[in-house]
Amino acid sequence: MRSSEEFNDWYVEIVEKAGLTDKRYPIKGMNVWTGYGWKAMRLIDTYMRQELDDTGHDEVCFPLLIPKNEFQKEEDHIKGFSAEVYWVTHAGENKLDIPLLLRPTSETAMYPMFSLWIRSHADLPLKTYQLVNVFRYETKQTRAFIRMREIHFFEAHTCHVDFEDAERQIAENLEIMKKLAKKLCLPYVLCKRPDWDKFAGAFYTIGIDSLMPTGRTLQMGSIHQYKENFSRPYDIKYEDDNGQHQYVHQTTYGMSERILGALISIHNDEKGIILPPDIAPTQIVIIPIISKQEPEVVTNKCQEIFAQLKQAGFRVHLDDRDLRPGNKYYDWELKGVPLRIELGARDIQNGVITIARRDTGDKSQIPFDNIIEGIRESLLAIQSDLLTRAQKQHDESIFEITDISEAKPGINVMNWCGEEDCGLQVENATDMAVLGIPVEVEPKSGNCIVCGKPTEILIYVAKTY
Ligand code: ZN
Repeated sequence: MRSSEEFNDWYVEIVEKAGLTDKRYPIKGMNVWTGYGWKAMRLIDTYMRQELDDTGHDEVCFPLLIPKNEFQKEEDHIKGFSAEVYWVTHAGENKLDIPLLLRPTSETAMYPMFSLWIRSHADLPLKTYQLVNVFRYETKQTRAFIRMREIHFFEAHTCHVDFEDAERQIAENLEIMKKLAKKLCLPYVLCKRPDWDKFAGAFYTIGIDSLMPTGRTLQMGSIHQYKENFSRPYDIKYEDDNGQHQYVHQTTYGMSERILGALISIHNDEKGIILPPDIAPTQIVIIPIISKQEPEVVTNKCQEIFAQLKQAGFRVHLDDRDLRPGNKYYDWELKGVPLRIELGARDIQNGVITIARRDTGDKSQIPFDNIIEGIRESLLAIQSDLLTRAQKQHDESIFEITDISEAKPGINVMNWCGEEDCGLQVENATDMAVLGIPVEVEPKSGNCIVCGKPTEILIYVAKTY
């Protein structure tokens, strides 16, 4: 476990040094995505697009602005968001009759249109998603990728004939999340949030949380079952087989750039960040070790290997800057490139390349005639070892407790009777948040940690970001 202060200082510095973001833009909480960071985010986005397309979703793109009257249709939703909204009140010199707001999320932009699009049960399920920026007036201290006012956001919105079909959608979302987490080497927990902490307007909310090295959890995303909570105020109805008009049941699945924040926080060492090969903008960097005699022999061979790897589909970079190899190692280690190839005259004589793994620092050699296969195996090994290591750290930070005074940094698991009073007392006594009832975890008999009543319900409790 690292102290929050030490970790925060490290984080704030590394995201800029590694070239992921530039926070000098003159609006607090609105950073510039620089090339390297945007490439990493785009790879994550590309993967999400693929998964959503493959599961029958259509990508859409709704306008950024939402009229005030549409935003206000669902009462809980407006209560939950109104303090965070940016308003557009003027156009040129003119005051607008109906103020417009920058989307903090897109329910209220999409649902008036859904009500026009859906007519009969043949239009269902309607499965859409978009990748856009959302805006939230954040009053706490902002931090790159983790707490921003302009947020790069993924949101899927679906409509279904009934509650059961919406539940099937949520099961599909959990599968998509499982696959994404594997790509990112990110352990996570799923918790059904307590009623006092669910999303504004939701019937229930499943939070997707990752555990940071400070012992606090970070919500990377969430999945919501809305039931008819939005379809009623937005009048989204379909005609069923019997000619009756029914309200649709809806779900959403949202994730943000926080995924990248979690990734950086979990995969790193004293040299910098470590990116999982599946989403690293550069998977392999080639460093020529030029000797005074015949420098072109090394240069030519490096170019040949670069072309060969690129052709094979790897994201590879040849660093031919006029710098000492040691300086280049430093730069690429900081940026978290998973694999480095070193190639000098002696390697060429021996017919091998030398590779260095970013995660372990291990060096080994691959013969020229096996480069593609050798590199592929090394990247797979890094991908798998990163997840194993992170999962181990994660699992070691989950503690079962039976006395509230035993709560410690990490995720605390305890029995709870289900009464809000007892839940709030847990939060007060620990100065932590109830993440909720773990999903896909077996219930366990015990006594409520506050009132002692016998119960099978477990809850996860942690400090959160
Ligand atoms: Zn209780």
